[in-house]
Amino acid sequence: MWKWVASDAINEGGAMKVTRRDLLAWSAGAAAGLLATPVPWKVLDDVSIWSQNWPWIPQPARGPVEVKQSFCTLCPKGCGLRVRMAAGWAVGVAGSSTHPISRGALCPLAFAAHQLNWHPQRLRSVCHGSNRSTWADAQAAFAHASKEGPLVVIDGYPGRAASSVLESFAEKQGGSYRVFAPAELRALASYERWTGIPAASLGYDLENANTVISFGAPLLDGWGTPGRFTRLWAERAAGMRDPQLRLIQIDSSLSRTAARAWQWVEIREGSESALASGLAGALHEQNLVPAHSPVPSMTLAESAAQTGMSVERIRELARLVVAKTPALVIARDDDPAVAALNVLLGSLGKRGGIVRHSEQVKPYVAAESVIGSARAVLIDASVPWDFVPQTNAEIFRFAAWDGGGTKADWLLPAPGFLEDLTDLPTAPGCSALTYGVAPALVKATSEVQSAAQFLCSLDGSLPTTAKIIDSRCQDLFRRREGSVYAQEIFEMAKFTSVQTFKEQLLKGAVWAGEPTASPEFHCSLKEWPTRTRAVAAESWATEWRAPVMPPLASKLYQESGLRESPSRRNA
Ligand code: SF4
Repeated sequence: MWKWVASDAINEGGAMKVTRRDLLAWSAGAAAGLLATPVPWKVLDDVSIWSQNWPWIPQPARGPVEVKQSFCTLCPKGCGLRVRMAAGWAVGVAGSSTHPISRGALCPLAFAAHQLNWHPQRLRSVCHGSNRSTWADAQAAFAHASKEGPLVVIDGYPGRAASSVLESFAEKQGGSYRVFAPAELRALASYERWTGIPAASLGYDLENANTVISFGAPLLDGWGTPGRFTRLWAERAAGMRDPQLRLIQIDSSLSRTAARAWQWVEIREGSESALASGLAGALHEQNLVPAHSPVPSMTLAESAAQTGMSVERIRELARLVVAKTPALVIARDDDPAVAALNVLLGSLGKRGGIVRHSEQVKPYVAAESVIGSARAVLIDASVPWDFVPQTNAEIFRFAAWDGGGTKADWLLPAPGFLEDLTDLPTAPGCSALTYGVAPALVKATSEVQSAAQFLCSLDGSLPTTAKIIDSRCQDLFRRREGSVYAQEIFEMAKFTSVQTFKEQLLKGAVWAGEPTASPEFHCSLKEWPTRTRAVAAESWATEWRAPVMPPLASKLYQESGLRESPSRRNA
């Protein structure tokens, strides 16, 4: 047996021999010993604290914390917001339950909207082509261009005080004011063509409908103002075998709306118009609608072949549609055959159908219309970044965020989230008039201008947004109609001065008109529409106007997109 003797080791070489293995063993022992002491942890702690306090590291705002009521202005729905502020900066948002339409709901992307102002793609300086420029140069270039030739101004959120400024400037210059309409207004465009009544003054009286037939509109998944239909459905339909509000969802896939609807009618992708024609034929065949209304040329058998449904199932669906009236048909975009069903059912200008909430709104030229020989095109920040006008004119594009790949000659930094005073007219598709005012709650962190401010600085005779808001408040106060929704609901008659009324609005209250005061209108359709249009689904994700998303929402959006097949999303 081997035995180690210390004297042997010493005597062999005359001195103690240190091998590499010994060194490694000592190092490992020293490291293990050091870890058992507080020294490394203390050093790590000190370095972390020291590096957090470097002057260039952003610090969270410190100061009084308060909650303010306002509105989300990122799209024309104008949902009510509760904004948590710290030292004058927005640090969180939530839905406001006092808003009469959104009723506490927000779309998922808006929950982190306060982060958008700090997004890396925030547009912070004027750009001309790929070079940095100045506001003075942009103003000079725009003034020069608008003197040289016709001007086109494009707005994505019509009806605001800022829209009046854009429209007035275009009119004074002999130019053209155009509107990029959201999908809900495009779905009402057929009625505008048939009656001459602007689509922006029409809305869906969902609150009084008993049967809603949705042709692919994602009513329970982001359609319209968040919270409006979902709350109605929760109150009048959810969990009931025979609900007060029947939702019939016509869809090619088991979408989230289809899964929760009273009935899901499965059809082939893109055959909505064929089913609408088939339903019209079945309604006539069973004498369920007036005989003098237009009859489609498509037969029931043809409709069945295109939709993949049986003729008997289409007949049965026609009976269901009229079983519990008022019945309201909703298309997901501009689809004349689907819209014509409301004419057939007598749902236009009626309680529980398509109603007209205002006689003041003018019809607008669509932003997509051909731009002739314009010299300059000014695009407001409310127009979706993806919209590219087909023109060779010089393009002045206002935007709060740079979405990249733009055709614009000038990029002009616009106010971001809650950085600008704006008013909120009635949201698209609503059945009653509403009005709100969103103050500038936070300071802009760079030199920004809205398109309306830019035009007012060029033409001093234009009224500013603030002045137009003042006169609108005075007008509402004088009319003494409707109610104001704040923590309580006040009748307009309770306000003793326009000042107190305006103060309430600036604190996040909403004025709402009387839904029953809707003027009646009629439409007599002579022929069944044969023209069909390519339709696109509308939802909170497709209606998001900013070219960027809050970091918190990006993942959510990507995962939400997995719900539908790519072909459906690209439709
Ligand atoms: S739908 Fe979303 S983005 Fe539009 S106003 Fe409401 S919360 Fe804002």
